[in-house]
Amino acid sequence: MSDLLVVGSVALDSVKTPFGQGTEVLGGSATYFSYAASFFTQVRLVAVGGEDFPVEHLDLLRERQVDLTGLQRAQGRTFRWTGEYGYDLNEAKTLDTQLNVFADFSPHLPEHYRRPNFLFLANIDPRLQLEVVRQVERPRLVAMDTMNFWITGKRQALERTMGEVDALIINDGEARQLTQEPNLVKAAEAVLALGPKLVVIKRGEYGALLFAYGNFFFAPAFPLASVLDPTGAGDSFAGGFMGALARAGDIDEASLRRAVVYGSVMASFAVEDFSLRRLTRLRPEEIEERYKAFQDMVTFA
Ligand code: AMP
Repeated sequence: MSDLLVVGSVALDSVKTPFGQGTEVLGGSATYFSYAASFFTQVRLVAVGGEDFPVEHLDLLRERQVDLTGLQRAQGRTFRWTGEYGYDLNEAKTLDTQLNVFADFSPHLPEHYRRPNFLFLANIDPRLQLEVVRQVERPRLVAMDTMNFWITGKRQALERTMGEVDALIINDGEARQLTQEPNLVKAAEAVLALGPKLVVIKRGEYGALLFAYGNFFFAPAFPLASVLDPTGAGDSFAGGFMGALARAGDIDEASLRRAVVYGSVMASFAVEDFSLRRLTRLRPEEIEERYKAFQDMVTFA
């Protein structure tokens, strides 16, 4: 089993959707990512929590054998994000972002974290993403995510980080914002010009597009009758995608295509409930069942 290293946020999220709300529930890009990826491979996490981060949240990740040696606890408050969704669940409206302990965080990777096969730079300050890239021996694949907060606030650092990664996994609105290009094919080409060799553009309920090795691949999103909270869909997608690649130990085109479908499978579970609730009820057989259902859904004679 190949191992997978992730740096990103662990958070307390306050989220409101038309179907309910959660206050200071467990969230964060690295949290969703590592939980989803843990169904596929050994995951090691780098992040920082504050003094107020509830310890029982760590048990959830420990139960999934996520290595938390690189999760520091710092003096101060945990990162907090407050967001809201309307009936169009594809776009989160950020109401408040409090970096708190992430503002002064400088990761120092434990020795056994420094040779990962796969590295994911989940959504967080691009300066921190780069600090992690600089501390590891060259992995098979380095991928990253980002969001509007960093595209507008830390553009220069973001471009520097993008220059050092193999893949960008990003949602459609952010791809357009990053490249100033409304057409997604052109946006993907513009991303490739910034450094990455692979691009995955996530389109919420409209599926995900892969641009790799000069070809396109598209997977729809799984049609769900009930979506309660889209928070974490992007990170769970990335967890399924990177986890599946790490498990396969390969990044050829067929493996990438299968990884996009596993990403879509994990995102489809994440949105069925608030916070990590659905993921924590997930059985490994359900992942394979839904993967098969995806296959059936797109097959025609
Ligand atoms: P997504 O998978 O795109 O829905 O990401 C949702 C997660 O991103 C939430 O659990 C938030 O805690 C986290 N998040 C929101 N804003 C930021 C930010 N500026 N930096 C890092 N993480 C963030």
